[in-house]
Amino acid sequence: MATQPAYTGRFAPSPTGPLHAGSMVAALASYLDARAHHGRWLVRIEDVDEGRSVAGTADDMLGLLHQLGMQWDGDVVWQSRRGALYQAAFDQLGFHAYPCGCNRREIADSRLGTAPDGSAIYPGTCRQGLGAGKSMRSLRLRVPEAGADLIEFADRFAGPIAHHLAQDAGDFVLKRADGFWAYQLAVVVDDAQQGVTDIVRGADLLDSTPRQIYLQRLLGLPTPRYLHVPVLRNEHGEKLSKQTGAAAVAPRNEAEAVAVLLAAARGLALPLERAGSLAGFWRAAVPAWAALLQDRADELCD
Ligand code: GLU
Repeated sequence: MATQPAYTGRFAPSPTGPLHAGSMVAALASYLDARAHHGRWLVRIEDVDEGRSVAGTADDMLGLLHQLGMQWDGDVVWQSRRGALYQAAFDQLGFHAYPCGCNRREIADSRLGTAPDGSAIYPGTCRQGLGAGKSMRSLRLRVPEAGADLIEFADRFAGPIAHHLAQDAGDFVLKRADGFWAYQLAVVVDDAQQGVTDIVRGADLLDSTPRQIYLQRLLGLPTPRYLHVPVLRNEHGEKLSKQTGAAAVAPRNEAEAVAVLLAAARGLALPLERAGSLAGFWRAAVPAWAALLQDRADELCD
C-alpha cells in the first residue's frame, strides 16, 4: 500500500491577474515550508470562477514559478475541470445545505452586518424553505446556531484562533447565483482529495479557515495544519492585489528573478540580504525559513 507523505503543501493561485509582489509572498512561504519539511509541493489553479479567470494568466503563473526555480510535484490541478467532485461533495451535505432565493440587495438590506471578509451576513431568510414567489439563486450551507458555532484552531504563525460561525460568517454560499461552485467548497474538496496536510497562505484567508474546517467536519475530511503569513500592503494600507494596482512580477533574467525572491523573503521577514544566483537564494532561504518558524513556534509556546 502506498504510504501517505508526511507533508504535502500547495500553492493555489486564482488566475484572475498576474502574480504580483503580494502573491509571491504566499507562494514563497508555501514552497519554503514544503521544502523545509522535505515534503511535496503542489500547484492548483483556482479557476473555479470561470467568469473572472483571465486567459493565459495561469500559464504565465506556471512559467514564472518555473523560472524562479519553484518546481512543483505532480500534475497541476485545474478547478474548472473538477465540477463532478464538487457536486459529489455537495450531495453528501444533505440537510446542511439549502437553496436560497435572496439577492444581494435583500441580504444587504437585512443589515445583519458584514463578515470580516466584507461579505454581508445572511439573515437566514430561506433556511426553512424558499419564500413565496422566490426561486433558487444560490445554494447555502446552514451553520450551527449561536452557542454551538465555535470553531477553534491553532495557526502555526498567527497562534490560536477562535471564530463564531453564526456571528462571523453566517450561512455561506456553496454554489453561486452565476452557477459556479464557491471557493469555500472547492478548496476543501481539493485539499482533501490531493492529500494536502499543510496549508500555507496569506492572512487574508484566515477568516475563511473556520468555514473550511466546518465543511471538512461535515464531509468527514481531515483538517490540515494551517499557517497564514502576513499580507503585503501598499502605502494606503490596502492589501496588494490586481484591484489595488499591484504590478505583475516579470523578471527578465536571473538577477531580476533573485530580486523578486529577495523582495518576497523580506515580506516574510527572512534575514536574507542578497544572493548571487537562484541556487544560492534557495540554499539560504530554506534553513532561514525553518529557523524563523522555530522562533515563531517558541514565541507561541511562551
Ligand atoms: N485562490 C486563492 C487566492 O488566490 C487562494 C486560496 C487558498 O490558498 O486557499 O487568493
